[in-house]
Amino acid sequence: MGEAAQAVTVSRDGDIGLIEIDHPPVNSMNHAVRAGLLEAVEALDADGSVRAIVVHGRGKHFIAGADLSEMDAGPRPPLLHDVLARLEAAAKPVIAALHGTTLGGGAELALASHYRCATRDLSLGFPEVKVGLIPGSGGTVRLPRLAGVKATLDLMVGAQPIGFDAALAAGLVDREISGDVRAAAIAYARELVAGGAPLRRTRDLPVAGPLDAGFFATYRAGLTVAQRKVKAVARVVEAVEAATTGSFDAGLARARELFVESRESVESRALRHLFFAERGASSAARSRTVTSIGVVGAGTMGSGIAISALTAGFDVVLVDLKPEAVGAGRQRITTTFEEQVRKGRLTEGAAAAALGRLTTRDALEALDQVDLVIEAVFENLEVKQSVFGELGRLCRPGAVLATNTSTLDVDAIAAASGRAADVVGMHFFSPANIMRLVEIVRGAASAEDALSTVISVTRRLGKIGVVVGNCYGFVGNRMLYAYGREKELMLLEGAPPERIDRALEAFGMAMGPNAVGDLAGLDIGFHARRGWKDKPKDPRFYRVSDALAEQGRYGQKTGRGFYRYEAGARRGTPDPEVTELIRAEAGRLGVRQREIGDEEIVGRCILALVNEGARILGEGIAASAADIDVVWCNGYGFPRDRGGPMFYADTLGMTEVLSQIRTYARDADARYWEPAPLIIELAARGAAFGSPEGGRS
Ligand code: NAD
Repeated sequence: MGEAAQAVTVSRDGDIGLIEIDHPPVNSMNHAVRAGLLEAVEALDADGSVRAIVVHGRGKHFIAGADLSEMDAGPRPPLLHDVLARLEAAAKPVIAALHGTTLGGGAELALASHYRCATRDLSLGFPEVKVGLIPGSGGTVRLPRLAGVKATLDLMVGAQPIGFDAALAAGLVDREISGDVRAAAIAYARELVAGGAPLRRTRDLPVAGPLDAGFFATYRAGLTVAQRKVKAVARVVEAVEAATTGSFDAGLARARELFVESRESVESRALRHLFFAERGASSAARSRTVTSIGVVGAGTMGSGIAISALTAGFDVVLVDLKPEAVGAGRQRITTTFEEQVRKGRLTEGAAAAALGRLTTRDALEALDQVDLVIEAVFENLEVKQSVFGELGRLCRPGAVLATNTSTLDVDAIAAASGRAADVVGMHFFSPANIMRLVEIVRGAASAEDALSTVISVTRRLGKIGVVVGNCYGFVGNRMLYAYGREKELMLLEGAPPERIDRALEAFGMAMGPNAVGDLAGLDIGFHARRGWKDKPKDPRFYRVSDALAEQGRYGQKTGRGFYRYEAGARRGTPDPEVTELIRAEAGRLGVRQREIGDEEIVGRCILALVNEGARILGEGIAASAADIDVVWCNGYGFPRDRGGPMFYADTLGMTEVLSQIRTYARDADARYWEPAPLIIELAARGAAFGSPEGGRS
């Protein structure tokens, strides 16, 4: 008994046996629940006085899916598909009482039951492919028998839950219930018993609906490009196809094989790693109360931050010194809300309410009563210091002051405020109303409760906060400079921009670095580097980007950058003028040009990230390798199915990482390729970033 007895309880209500899952907060399906369920089914099936069995989840949800934290350790019997086979084989009707979240293994339990009743708040789905898995406990063989093949594929490939009405229409709900779920389900069970309802085992049904010849080929051809890249999607389709071609048991056996394959795959391990890493920062300290947020600077970032805060329900005071910038900011915000209404993402009422909470002003004095200020003025230390000097004086005591600087010294900004304990960095990514990442920068003097306030506001904005230390570029941009440094050197060494972009996109980066530069604007980095005092004293450092910017080739906004852009085009075409410019710069700097292969392009760019990430970890700028992975997957388009740069390094193995770094030190440039001490240490101990010594908390 033990853990199983606590997670699942058995009781009786007259001749109805009741199995209750009680595993707060969301009844996730873990070992204790599986063991408890099996024991409960066996006991009630053997009890001659019980005529039907109801399965109920206590709390607000039925079962929110498998407990992913058990996945890495591998299977520990009883396995869910065996438990469900036993449940389905019961000699008396088993009724699932569905309500709230009913996902993954919970939905599979529902399908293995003989009858299903549900409340209108049902949300039923199979999110497995989102973590690189497939439903492995009979879902792929049972759902086609109840709802048909097409509906099965749409649910499992789409990974979006359906509500009550859709579940009813798909034949997954036999009876609507309301009020007290348990009591209503027991009443329904009693009715079934009284009516002599037969056992209705899903496994004995034929697969629903006729299938056209070539159905699966057509379905596969209709998948989106993104879906086709996901191995778990291909496995789901294969498992469902297997369900249609052989016996139930043969289909289940194939699904099991495919499930185990997916569970062991790097993609799934990577996605599971991110699932846990992305739960966001937390703090034990008490937060200060925040209901109103001031935003200083109504430019690109300030407007985006304001939209995010308004959407989350905060009152917002947006201030810019230039009245025309105030007007433009308000216009941008209004237009965004209008678009969301048009696209059906927001009701008109919600948009009007959000805009009703917005105040715009052209003087900082308007911020004297807000609870939190987020500053997003020009990236210039003197300007920011003067703004913080004023904020320090005029904001009410206890107000938290945050800066959205990308690279500047948060401590220097904090000092100017005269109340450095209230100051924290809050580095949003562009567009700030869409990108989920926020680097929360802990200053040397930041008070714990100021930090915890920012952590909590970040979560209320629906974003993922990662707490980082104060250094040039923090975690993300500091690593970006290492990555960009290598691609800039390789440009000079003869790799054309499009070759570099193609190689890194093939690795999985959302966009190649040169295309990103053109999109963001090459002038931005150009100006930022001018203000960077300790940048490497190397005339080749970012020389190509700087040379393009010097010629006014800022990227998409000027129609020319690394690429040439036809009017309105978002994808550029290679430009011979750029080839020429690079060749001339290489000649001037004495860089010999050569053919550079994809492997070297990917190796140098990605290992530069890993090496810098390891330094950041060693210096304590990031608290864990997992935090670095969250930053890179959410802020810089690193492929999620590789888990982030540090997880990727672990899949290579630390000995291999060290050996590649040493190769580049020899063949590329020793000054940039000194291995981080942490890598040397981990390699010597046969450890990984993800092992406890690697800093994962
Ligand atoms: P922006 O030029 O679009 O907007 C800056 C706004 O600040 C302008 O409207 C300007 O009038 C206003 N401003 C300047 N001085 C002011 C003052 N003293 N008081 C009040 N308002 C003042 O710039 P942006 O791209 O929104 O960047 C703002 C900040 O966000 C910078 O620190 C930048 O590094 C950071 N950031 C930018 C990005 C990005 O991709 N654009 C990403 C992350 C962080």
